[in-house]
Amino acid sequence: MGISSPSPFVVAVDGPSGAGKSSTSRGVARALGLNYLDTGAMYRALTWWLVSCGADTADQARVAELATVPAIEVSTDPDDPWTRVDGRDVSADIRTTEVSAKVSEVARVPEVRRHLIAKQRAIIKAAAAGIVAEGRDIGTVVAPDAPLKVYLTADSGARAQRRAAEHGAAVDTTEADQARRDRLDAAQSAKAEDAVLIDATDLSLPAVTQMITALARERTQLACAGEKSR
Ligand code: C5P
Repeated sequence: MGISSPSPFVVAVDGPSGAGKSSTSRGVARALGLNYLDTGAMYRALTWWLVSCGADTADQARVAELATVPAIEVSTDPDDPWTRVDGRDVSADIRTTEVSAKVSEVARVPEVRRHLIAKQRAIIKAAAAGIVAEGRDIGTVVAPDAPLKVYLTADSGARAQRRAAEHGAAVDTTEADQARRDRLDAAQSAKAEDAVLIDATDLSLPAVTQMITALARERTQLACAGEKSR
């Protein structure tokens, strides 16, 4: 985007699963030449590793003890998003139904959040070109100063249909899993007061991508105008 500012330009995209955060965030990053961060992939990577080690993910004390052990890395290239744990590519492994079923109980452990949020902030800080970061608590906790915050949602039926189509699964089981995850994730899924609410129920993902891209362009221009008036 070619603006020089002391901290990277951050677009925070939060909202529940299935609202289309990943495709739209990647699309916005591509359109604006920004990096991309999928924070959910980091919680999934830790969950995958715990499951592979045979750890009980419901045992909060054990999860807290192990939270910092695996080396979790994520790509910030919107055209090539990958996730690695201890050097192994786990991009596909972290999307299984087992990981999806267990990730929320791992993500609510305070030590896990502290550790992964610190990593996320470091990745955001290092993204000189700016970054689109998606998750649940980007606008409220990870990057509360982000110049653009979006809360992307859709009604529960539309979200379940989108996810079921992506995973070739049945809509009713997907909707049940989604409702369970929404409930467990509620504590860290609040909309930031200053976030723009987008309801994607009746919108196509390209339309949502365009809306967010336009908002980001507007905000950068505002930021540049602010610089010029100094
Ligand atoms: O975005 P995704 O559905 O892949 O996220 C998987 C899980 O990771 C969520 O259900 C939530 O439990 C957790 N998560 C979180 N905070 C974030 C991103 C994801 O707690 N910023």
